[in-house]
Amino acid sequence: MLLQEPQLTAGNTIYRSTDYRIIGRFAPSPTGALHTGSLVAAVGSYLMAKHAGGLWLLRLDDLDAQRQITGMADDIMRTLESFCLLWDGEVARQSCHTGEYGEAFEALQQAGVLYPCGCSRREIAMASSAPRQEDDCLPYPGTCRGGLKADSPIRSWRVAVPGNEICFNDLRKGRICQTLPEVSGDFAVRRGDGEYAYQLAVVVDDHLAGVTQVVRGEDLLASTPRQIYIQTVLGYQQPEYCHLPLVTGSDGAKLSKRDNLISYQLGNVRGGEARLLFAVLAFLGQNPPAGLESCSCEDLLDWGVTHFDAGRIPCEGGEIPLRRAF
Ligand code: GLU
Repeated sequence: MLLQEPQLTAGNTIYRSTDYRIIGRFAPSPTGALHTGSLVAAVGSYLMAKHAGGLWLLRLDDLDAQRQITGMADDIMRTLESFCLLWDGEVARQSCHTGEYGEAFEALQQAGVLYPCGCSRREIAMASSAPRQEDDCLPYPGTCRGGLKADSPIRSWRVAVPGNEICFNDLRKGRICQTLPEVSGDFAVRRGDGEYAYQLAVVVDDHLAGVTQVVRGEDLLASTPRQIYIQTVLGYQQPEYCHLPLVTGSDGAKLSKRDNLISYQLGNVRGGEARLLFAVLAFLGQNPPAGLESCSCEDLLDWGVTHFDAGRIPCEGGEIPLRRAF
């Protein structure tokens, strides 16, 4: 099931993912322009994959049609290119994978872990996009586990989660254990209108592309045990995980929308991308030598790929002193 081998093409080169031991990816949602946190995830995942001689894929998480902003997918790709963050093969799009999500959904159903649910519009809405720490819902109490109330429409399909701890080793955070009933409860994988939820889509997509490394922001750390549970039920290989520190304002506070935008941070400074990339390498604890400060993005990435050390990524997030540097 779902064992099709992706053929990745770039120019005249055809990559077969099975030829690569390491496959990393960056998976932005085209719901807005790239922000500094996404750039950290892009750079971190790129360096880790390329340092290991692997592929770095780009996937647009465009599943939630209502939250898409026209032109943002192109904007994201142009921004990545302006930092010389060039992906391998063709860009994948979640909106093209609904058939595969359907197959996985059926496999979950056959495994007996799904049930229809008639409650909570809010939770169902949140299930379709990547949940963030601050807006993750309270655990679903399992109201419909014993059966849908008479006459209740199906508002979502949920995974009945096990009571045992789910543990994994995060390359930066160490051993993480979570008991799903305490954090998410039975979580939704499909809405009543047929739209698949982030938690299912991301697992299927990574599996389809043969992804072996998931490197992304720490705001998605709490979702990982749910994804691991789906992988286990579907018999998928578990990728390695590394959750990167979050970018904040100078006082540790959340960045405003404007301050968070890469375009705002760059202003109109010529060669701003390279300065920002230098700052991101420093943020990731890679200690780029001061002599590299006037180098191009290409040279900075070459240096970063050669010298990348995941063990240096700091425990704490914080500010990227960008504008100040210009
Ligand atoms: N598309 C998700 C986001 O924009 C990230 C998915 C992932 O890295 O697993 O936050």
